[in-house]
Amino acid sequence: MSPRRVVVVGYGMAGARFADEVRRRDPAGDLVALTVVGAEAHPAYNRVLLSGVLAGSMPAGAISLHAADWASQAQVDLRTGVSVREIDREARVVTLSDKSSVDYDALVLATGSRAWVPPVDGLRGENGSLAPDVATFRELDDCAAILRQVRPGAPVAVLGGGLLGVEAARGLLGRGCLVTLVHPVGHLMERQLDPGGGAVLARTLTGLGIDVRLGRLAARHVVGDGLELDDGSAVPAELVVVATGVRPETAQAEAAGLVVDRGVVVDDLLRTSDPRVHAIGDCATHPGTQAGLVQPAWDQAAVLADLVTGADPAARYRGTPTVTRLKARGVDLAALGDVHSADSGDVVAVQDSASGRYARVVLTDDRVTGAVVIGLPDAAAAVTQFYDTGAPAPTDRLAMLLGRAPAATSSVDDLPDDAVVCRCNTVTKARLVAARRSGATDLPALAARTRATTGCGSCADTIRDWLA
Ligand SMILES: Cc1cc2nc3c(=O)[nH]c(=O)nc-3n(C[C@H](O)[C@H](O)[C@H](O)COP(=O)(O)OP(=O)(O)OC[C@H]3O[C@@H](n4cnc5c(N)ncnc54)[C@H](O)[C@@H]3O)c2cc1C
Repeated sequence: MSPRRVVVVGYGMAGARFADEVRRRDPAGDLVALTVVGAEAHPAYNRVLLSGVLAGSMPAGAISLHAADWASQAQVDLRTGVSVREIDREARVVTLSDKSSVDYDALVLATGSRAWVPPVDGLRGENGSLAPDVATFRELDDCAAILRQVRPGAPVAVLGGGLLGVEAARGLLGRGCLVTLVHPVGHLMERQLDPGGGAVLARTLTGLGIDVRLGRLAARHVVGDGLELDDGSAVPAELVVVATGVRPETAQAEAAGLVVDRGVVVDDLLRTSDPRVHAIGDCATHPGTQAGLVQPAWDQAAVLADLVTGADPAARYRGTPTVTRLKARGVDLAALGDVHSADSGDVVAVQDSASGRYARVVLTDDRVTGAVVIGLPDAAAAVTQFYDTGAPAPTDRLAMLLGRAPAATSSVDDLPDDAVVCRCNTVTKARLVAARRSGATDLPALAARTRATTGCGSCADTIRDWLA
């Protein structure tokens, strides 16, 4: 029987991982003939680490997910620098921007998200492209464009105080720029943080030297001058970095008549409204997860590879409980679950704004259902474990935040077997222990075996300490 033709649209974090997962299950390509089409010219890279590239803590070359010869080694027909322009579901063929076409038996949409630029006067030129001193922050090329334009002492404005905006502002501050962070809402990172947490974060960033302007909209941009805000104040800037949110990239899916509700709607088999077309990662909408993070994308890639190769026809994707971690030097922040709908739950909170420490934990029926923890890494570890395992919170709830609860440990040895140590890759303690017992006794071997540490990398120190 000839292999099933599977075409992947998008060679980002989800598309690349899906291809890896397929080849893990079907190394010789007997079952699946893979074509991967990627609009970016680079080999797939770890987008999560772009903040590190911007901040200068790692070179661009260090974030590649695949070596240059990956496609030939993995027997993948890889086409980079070209995009899928049209999907013909009837004929089961996709047409690419280079006018070539590829037939499929199954199509996997992994088109991610694109940066959204608000309709502020002057951000775009007359032809619709960004003004020369305006950049978004989504791709490696964006990062290179920003770094070409900044210099120590240069005034830079960052528009948008969500996760990306805060990471960009911190990174550019580290590069010696004079950074102003403009956010339209009254507190930073309002998707993840409650107002108290947002205020502590703003105070911490201000203390580091960032000029934080909250509750202000950009009214106008003048090339070379910077921004004018809605209260008439000015923000001088040689460069404006726009980090005002992302939108799932669904243009081709919509044009092909697939059901889209913000993202392409998928079920537990990651099927769209056409069972031959699947969607994973940022471009997909599944009821059990919040899109826009890598952990669900990678969980979905593994489930879909099980299904497409037939390795596990019973595999289902049921959702991913996500944790957001800020990657900004000098700011330790974790946000998980829902802290906004606290009406039905109990709240435990501590706040020491002057030293940048804050925690707010929401408990429903004695279980942690949401939390924001800033400047308290041990408490963040403890709260995350209670959230992950669903274990009842200790009777002395404050102990959780003060590092005195039984689970308040950053040592892998003391964790329960089902505790997730590497979140990006959903690697539990039990998997790490099994890999170590089977000979993966140093960090590179453990990473190769389990993939732990290969996402945002924030678990690397914990695992290194455990191996020592
Ligand atoms: C600076 C930054 C920091 C982040 N930090 C974190 C973090 O700490 N934790 C976290 O969980 N997540 C983080 N994210 C989000 C994370 O990167 C995304 O959730 C993840 O990349 C989603 O993977 P994806 O493959 O769905 O999308 P992407 O990685 O965006 O890949 C999609 C790819 O598809 C391509 N494409 C689109 N349309 C087409 C087409 N028609 N034809 C061909 N190719 C196409 C795109 O060019 C792109 O290369 C961060 C993102 C950024 C930008």
